[in-house]
Amino acid sequence: MFERFEVLRDAEMSRFTTLKLGGPADYLAFPRSAEEITALFEEAGKAGMPVTVIGHGSNLLVLDGGIRGLVIRVEKNMRTIRREGNRIIAQAGAMLGTVAAAAAEAGLTGLEFACGIPGTVGGGVSMNAGAYDGEMANVTERVDGIYPDGRPVSLNREEMCFGYRTSAVKQMDFVVTEVTLALQPGDPQAIRARMAELTARRAEKQPLDLPSAGSTFKRPEGFYAAALIDQCGLKGYSIGDAEVSLKHAGFLINRGSSSRDYLALVRHVQKIVEERAGVRLEPEIRILGEEAEPA
Ligand SMILES: Cc1cc2nc3c(=O)[nH]c(=O)nc-3n(C[C@H](O)[C@H](O)[C@H](O)COP(=O)(O)OP(=O)(O)OC[C@H]3O[C@@H](n4cnc5c(N)ncnc54)[C@H](O)[C@@H]3O)c2cc1C
Repeated sequence: MFERFEVLRDAEMSRFTTLKLGGPADYLAFPRSAEEITALFEEAGKAGMPVTVIGHGSNLLVLDGGIRGLVIRVEKNMRTIRREGNRIIAQAGAMLGTVAAAAAEAGLTGLEFACGIPGTVGGGVSMNAGAYDGEMANVTERVDGIYPDGRPVSLNREEMCFGYRTSAVKQMDFVVTEVTLALQPGDPQAIRARMAELTARRAEKQPLDLPSAGSTFKRPEGFYAAALIDQCGLKGYSIGDAEVSLKHAGFLINRGSSSRDYLALVRHVQKIVEERAGVRLEPEIRILGEEAEPA
């Protein structure tokens, strides 16, 4: 199957997620174009195979049993970035940090907030990724993609229905292939200085040396997830090798655990925070795949 494409068989998803967790995907494809994505859907469809689309895997918890069917990773082979006036047009697989650096190089401001978010532009608009008072919704002018049946789709900012860590991509179920970002002219030196400042703030506050998927939970209305977790005495709490970071309680980190332990920790934190603080934390991370068969 999938002979014409760059595809791995039984690919351990722990190699393709920043959490470094997850069992094998039956097939993992690295498409080179929108046409290849359509062709992959077609071939999987003929074989009755489910298809899952991911980017860099920086917001994912893949379970230990792995993912059945085909996983399409829009990332390393779809990374071109071009500039047209005050716009940056990036293929969905371009990394946000690289696009932010390209914008700085071009003297365009607006994307500095994204320089430390370790995901793709496609994942960024899908999640409406944001940090330091910025979010993808503020800079996205248009999103181009394709539906699983090969029909093209092109949405403007309003049609993307951006919300807190969500967008139309989830509801409409299409694959993002290209994103047009509308930025403003700025001073390259000031842009770079802001990026350096935000990078330093991240390094100071976040456990960047250990595998994580960033903030595990969404910010609950009127609260901060990390503060609630800390107040409930859960900083440093662990199940197996999954641990609530001592540096930043909003980050649940992996010190060599299984997805099972990690998920148990997510559930435990939710339960304790709900019991003690009366607030239900919702995961920001997306959970994919299936549990491992019991031994
Ligand atoms: C250390 C660290 C720090 C982080 N800091 C932040 C932060 O400050 N702010 C923030 O918002 N997030 C942060 N994150 C989380 C993550 O980087 C973002 O959510 C990022 O936008 C996810 O992009 P990705 O390419 O890794 O997507 P993935 O994790 O691979 O996928 C996330 C979702 O997007 C969908 N998706 C991905 N690509 C496509 C595509 N081409 N077409 C359709 N759907 C697609 C997937 O189906 C999935 O539902 C952080 C993560 C880490 C590890």
